[in-house]
Amino acid sequence: MKWEELKRQIPTSPALVLDEARILANLKPLQTIRQASGCKILYSMKALPLAALLALIKDQVDGFSVSSLFEARLASEVLADAGASIHLTTPGMRPDEFAELGRLCSHISFNSLPQHQRLQASVRDYSPGLRVNPKLSFADDQRYDPCRPHSKLGVDIELLRDGLPADVEGLHFHTVFACRDFKPLQQTLEKLRPILKCSRLKWLNLGGGYLYNAIADPQDVAELIRQVCVEFGIDVYVEPGKGVVGNAGYLLTTVLDRFVSDGKDVLILDTSVNHHPEVFEYQMKPHLREEDSAGEQSAILAGSTCLAGDVFGEYRFGRIPEVGERLVFADVGAYSLIKANRFNGYKLPDVYGVNPARWVLQKRDSYADYRRQWTNSGD
Ligand SMILES: *Cc1c(COP(=O)(O)O)cnc(C)c1O
Repeated sequence: MKWEELKRQIPTSPALVLDEARILANLKPLQTIRQASGCKILYSMKALPLAALLALIKDQVDGFSVSSLFEARLASEVLADAGASIHLTTPGMRPDEFAELGRLCSHISFNSLPQHQRLQASVRDYSPGLRVNPKLSFADDQRYDPCRPHSKLGVDIELLRDGLPADVEGLHFHTVFACRDFKPLQQTLEKLRPILKCSRLKWLNLGGGYLYNAIADPQDVAELIRQVCVEFGIDVYVEPGKGVVGNAGYLLTTVLDRFVSDGKDVLILDTSVNHHPEVFEYQMKPHLREEDSAGEQSAILAGSTCLAGDVFGEYRFGRIPEVGERLVFADVGAYSLIKANRFNGYKLPDVYGVNPARWVLQKRDSYADYRRQWTNSGD
């Protein structure tokens, strides 16, 4: 990415800039794992359900995984392919949506035994499964831990020791977040082994949460997955989200104002934490490309909204950026735009796809979008 050029050329700000070459590169280790192990790759579209992104990667993956009716509809529109998989799991299955979900999705992992009991249909097109809670916690922060005490995610593994409901054809688990180490996967598979051994399943979905793009050597993971495929004779799926788009997304912003507050420089940006709500939710400081950790000066980068805590953090610079300069937050492709909102009436970032040959506007937010959100359009 030629950032100095891009900062001059991209006409609007704030913008989410997607590096298409990086997205395709992120899929490479996954394809190596697929080739060596026979597993299938799904993209978990909740990380960024941008249609242009789905279209870019659809031929490189075996399908998408979804959490709701709208995601399932968009996935099936983009895929338009009878052979591709759409996997669904959610604690919030609506009875009135279930028939359509059953038609759109190839695999449904029920989140609880009562949910399965209520919604399983005698006539069905999808392959039924269960999301299992393996009761192995790997996250330090309970807000990210699907196996925390009293978890709402998945059937307690202890309830499955005596066998699975008769129609269940697959199991699903998802237990980690932004994980670069595959020991949790190994441990989880070990814990599931007795259940896999004594049931005749067709498939196993290993969930997302692993940064497959960040592993040095995919062969060990491939071997782990290959053994599962061979030992149990089942189809194995992986469904990363952040590992596909996280490091390929950048938030381009422009400095709108600069002043001193209680002795510190404050830069007001034309974006806000509402364009990357995890900054506020988890009080994390996103990486800024222009930061110079050895720089002598520092400034607080703050968003445009009325919330006092709408602040990205304090950053170091050799020279504090001026009004009108552009700055770029990196590694913000996942869980940013999808969680973004128009608080205070500020538009969402436009989206640009960039590859070595060109940049293209993929989506622009306008007053019409804001108006549609807040007026009664009648449907
Ligand atoms: C969120 C989620 C994923 C994707 O997680 P990443 O951390 O983005 O890889 C996959 N499967 C399930 C069930 C999820 O909830």
